[in-house]
Amino acid sequence: RLTRCSVSLQSSKAVQGLTGLRNLGNTCFMNSILQCLSNTKELRDYCLQNQYLRDLNNNSRMRTALMSEFAKLIQLLWTSSPNDCVSPSEFKTQIQRYAPRFVGYNQQDAQEFLRFLLDGLHSEVNRVLVRPRASTDTLDHLPDDEKSRQMWRRYQEREDSRIGDLFVGQLKSSLTCSECGYCSTAFDPFWDLSLPIPKKGYGEVTLMDCLRLFTKEDVLDGDEKPTCCRCKARTRCTKKFSIQKFPKILVLHLKRFSEARIRTSKLTTFVNFQLKDLDLREFASQSCNHAVYNLYAVSNHSGTTMGGHYTAYCKSPVSSEWHSFNDSRVTPMSSSHVRSSDAYLLFYELASPSSRIRGAKPRGRGHRHRTEESSPWQGRAQATQAPPGRWRLVFTLGLVFLLSFSSCVIKITEQGTRQARGHPPH
Ligand SMILES: [Zn+2]
Repeated sequence: RLTRCSVSLQSSKAVQGLTGLRNLGNTCFMNSILQCLSNTKELRDYCLQNQYLRDLNNNSRMRTALMSEFAKLIQLLWTSSPNDCVSPSEFKTQIQRYAPRFVGYNQQDAQEFLRFLLDGLHSEVNRVLVRPRASTDTLDHLPDDEKSRQMWRRYQEREDSRIGDLFVGQLKSSLTCSECGYCSTAFDPFWDLSLPIPKKGYGEVTLMDCLRLFTKEDVLDGDEKPTCCRCKARTRCTKKFSIQKFPKILVLHLKRFSEARIRTSKLTTFVNFQLKDLDLREFASQSCNHAVYNLYAVSNHSGTTMGGHYTAYCKSPVSSEWHSFNDSRVTPMSSSHVRSSDAYLLFYELASPSSRIRGAKPRGRGHRHRTEESSPWQGRAQATQAPPGRWRLVFTLGLVFLLSFSSCVIKITEQGTRQARGHPPH
């Protein structure tokens, strides 16, 4: 009896996703992201309950091997004993087929990796089997809310998956001419938001400071002047971002690195972020009652631009306890230690509306945008958050760029391989 009791306790303990991931040689960036995703409850359930099987889209470019390996890995993480350590090598083989950029063992950027991974998973379980041709009809004559709905519908006619259901939101960018007041809007899907960190002489900054800087009205003047279609000339304009549609899972990327690809410097500013009740209504494009988020995972980057290390802090969707995931080591931690100047990617989950009945009124927008004329703006009306398709182009350009630095890259790769084989680096 006692034995059975302890066995059942053991197995209930085992179903907690507290399994480490072996480092295959500078793969901590991957392990950190995998643990954050493993603790994303709906994504975990999608894998654990084999729901993904019926969504597998055999038209997908890489067939369905990435999603299958990812699901297998998540299942391993949630069925192994807590002290076990799982090797992600087969998953790594698949992600490299999807994104050759991750071949080799050099240190990578966790945010870029997350983008590629989600894009890959999404395309393999995309419910759209045959994409309709992209419509080029202008929607500029429509009121903003109607235009945003139509843009979202057009997006979903091509991109529609459980992965997207969780992570994709819609960003609005508005460009207003200072001469004639004409306002043009663009609505783009986003998988995460890259937030600039304000530079302050002293003290800490808050996540709200970063979000306010991201959504701050920006003046485009001088060489940056866009062409106003009403003035038929390049004019001084203001540009502004706001969130049109809040995703279920909001990933916030703190831009600590000067450049993602060639990291020349890193900001180690302590960004104070809320673990609970992060209210984002002031960043909504339209009045909105439901934009409160709770933190459940953080991908951390410690160290310098070249010699850094990634870990993850995750709140278990089962026990609600926080744990630190450092490659193969998983240790319990206090929620009071989750905030640190290493925080790099923040994973927030939208609070369910029923659990939040609050008296606070949504803050109204200062002005309404006019959308009278139909000609689009030329130039800078696009949001910086590109949809996954565009990222492939960005990736290709990046690869070309990387190749020009090949000697440097090869050196790093050699070093990484040497480390992976257990030889010390030079
Ligand atoms: Zn104008």
